Amino acid sequence: MPVNSQTHLIMGAALFGKPLPRLAWAGAAGGILPDLPMYVIVAGLRLQGHSLDRIFGEFYWQDYWQIANAVGHNFLLWGAVAATSAWIVTRHRQTQNPNTAPDGGAAAMAFAFSASALLHSAIDFLCHRDDGHMHFWPLTEWRFHSPVSYWDPSHYGTAFSLFEAGLGVLIAIILFRRYANPGIRLALLLCIIAYVAVPLFYFWSLSSHDHNAPVSGLGQAALSGESA
Ligand SMILES: [Zn+2]
Repeated sequence: MPVNSQTHLIMGAALFGKPLPRLAWAGAAGGILPDLPMYVIVAGLRLQGHSLDRIFGEFYWQDYWQIANAVGHNFLLWGAVAATSAWIVTRHRQTQNPNTAPDGGAAAMAFAFSASALLHSAIDFLCHRDDGHMHFWPLTEWRFHSPVSYWDPSHYGTAFSLFEAGLGVLIAIILFRRYANPGIRLALLLCIIAYVAVPLFYFWSLSSHDHNAPVSGLGQAALSGESA
């Protein structure tokens, strides 16, 4: 069971979503955005009838998809947006009356969004072994081969998944207590359900999958409904 996109989502909301609920939505959106190109590409290829195994075993490595992942997980892009928006928020605070209401303006929203996307990218950097992204594209196509994989059992994948699921449920409970907003609470409930649903989908898909056909590493991750 791999890193699920919802872990990125709720982590972004928890770490960058204070003190206003709208910042939590910005943090959540930034947490999932790096994987959005993958979801769009997979949906398109599935609609064309391609198998998950072929999608992740073959299409995943094509240049257009690799570059989409490189842009979505880009340290240069999200680093620049986060640094610029942080600078604007700090300057704004320095010129503001200290009793003014918390800042939920465009710069604060941009910071919550981009810092969350940067955190997602940094976590992916540390837990992708053979399928890492080009985080410094277009400066270089270098990829880090981490000793830890988010899905591969022969590289701590199972232990990592259990750690991630536990962390995700914990963060969801913290957010549930922090925000009374019904929309946020429903989203959190869906996240927690996903922690159960993804492994169930994984085992169901494996049990209905043709065991004679070779399954690529990423095909296995894909079968588990994993984010790239
Ligand atoms: Zn990702």
